[in-house]
Amino acid sequence: MELANDIRDLAESVIDEKARHSHLRTKKDKIIYFYDDKPRKWIGRVIKRSKIDQLLHGIEVAMLICKPLWDELTDEQKKCVVDHELCHIEENEKTGETKIIDHDLQEFYCIVNDYGLIMPDVERMAQAFENARRDEVTEDAQERT
Ligand SMILES: [Zn+2]
Repeated sequence: MELANDIRDLAESVIDEKARHSHLRTKKDKIIYFYDDKPRKWIGRVIKRSKIDQLLHGIEVAMLICKPLWDELTDEQKKCVVDHELCHIEENEKTGETKIIDHDLQEFYCIVNDYGLIMPDVERMAQAFENARRDEVTEDAQERT
């Protein structure tokens, strides 16, 4: 484990750039970033620190990045991973307390294959994929001109 100051720099620029992370702009000092040198099945994860840690160190969340996997990524993929991990850090609207939230969608490929888009969360994700494909096509067309 080692502190990852380059991840901190990237995360803070993503927090400034993306409105969805605006609640983190005043909490930048409450997030700590580490590289994990062991090979893992995950690239990144965020962990809410204990109340004692929060009181002693002012750190609310630790972001861990698996260094061996991270080193294989392009710059854009690295930004995508950090943006994803930041999406897990939310705020309780009533108390302002930091909380960790789960992904928008948890599903199996085989269920979507068999049932299609009958569930609202799957439909929303399919719409996001369509938007991403359309943006890719538009970018490709722009690159060709
Ligand atoms: Zn995640």
